[in-house]
Amino acid sequence: MSLPPLVEPAAELTVDEVRRYSRHLIIPDVGMAGQKRLKNAKVLCVGAGGLGSPALLYLAAAGVGTLGIIDFDVVDESNLQRQVIHGQSDVGRLKADSAAASVREINPLVNVVIHNVALTTDNVMDIFSGYDLIVDGTDNFATRYMVNDAAVLLGKPYVWGSIYRFDGQASVFWAEHGPCYRCLYPEPPPPGMVPSCAEGGVLGVLCASIGSIQVNEAIKVITGIGEPLVGRLMIYDALEMKYRDVKVRKDPECPLCGKNPTITELIDYEAFCGTISDEAQEAALGSTITAAELRDMKERGDDIYVIDVREQNEYEIVNIPGAVLIPKGEFINGSALEGLPQDKKIVLHCKSGARSAEVLAILKNAGFADAVHVGGGVLSWIKTVDPSLPTY
Ligand SMILES: [Zn+2]
Repeated sequence: MSLPPLVEPAAELTVDEVRRYSRHLIIPDVGMAGQKRLKNAKVLCVGAGGLGSPALLYLAAAGVGTLGIIDFDVVDESNLQRQVIHGQSDVGRLKADSAAASVREINPLVNVVIHNVALTTDNVMDIFSGYDLIVDGTDNFATRYMVNDAAVLLGKPYVWGSIYRFDGQASVFWAEHGPCYRCLYPEPPPPGMVPSCAEGGVLGVLCASIGSIQVNEAIKVITGIGEPLVGRLMIYDALEMKYRDVKVRKDPECPLCGKNPTITELIDYEAFCGTISDEAQEAALGSTITAAELRDMKERGDDIYVIDVREQNEYEIVNIPGAVLIPKGEFINGSALEGLPQDKKIVLHCKSGARSAEVLAILKNAGFADAVHVGGGVLSWIKTVDPSLPTY
């Protein structure tokens, strides 16, 4: 299905622009009209991270006239394995500032707009309304649903991408012409079920594979060329080196873009997606200790049994001395329970405190009433107890 161009052409290209974009201009499908549409286009990139990095670099090079960058995070050393818009000297700098500097270096003709804020229900409609198209490079479900809902409510197309380990997905959601993200994924996964890239890892170059598909689709939608990924989900397997696309139909019962929508304004996305499950939240209440408290318990020689519920490879990167590794999955399938000591206080920890809270709920259910978990996990241990340890 080909669609009309999203953006009207700019009045003209300058001599400098003709020179810079000549390899586009000589492609008959793009040509002068297509390049003028890119010049007039306003594209917002949500996140200057794994997907946002390659996306912003190529959107800038392609000559998109206005590029918005929204990110409130700062560049961390562990980002550099894949977030190629940032460099070593940017560590500690705001990602939005660092990305804007790279965009200006690649193409000074781009008007860069920095949104150094967290995207929230209070600002998303305002920010999105200033752009023609959104490129979604977010990595969490709450923001994903918010991006989708805001785009549908404003009638704007957006290019979605997601990455995990060796697997990537991409699509163009544009409710006017096809399905939305809710038509494809009506419900977020249960909290704790789908590990994030911070928990499960991601092959750095996968970001380029999916980010470049997103830019490819953005250019097609803006200029109206080719067959955009509207109503199709692109699935990429980097290990098998296979791309396949599956049809995604608009769900007539979609609560957002269907015939009788029940979602007519933004909702509470944190509550909708649940950062951790209700059970975990309840279990953690009054049973959460700080990293400093764990250190004190160890120093006093308390009779504790510290369990690290992360994965083997995470444990190898950094671990709390004396902690026993039992991955979360062994609690979920129940195999870990019988080997646990009955006479010691169990202290759980993971990377940031989400997985350990889930395991804590399982242990409480199994009768380990005085078990606790470390809020903030090993990251908090590194920060407050031993900053010399490597982080990830
Ligand atoms: Zn929908």
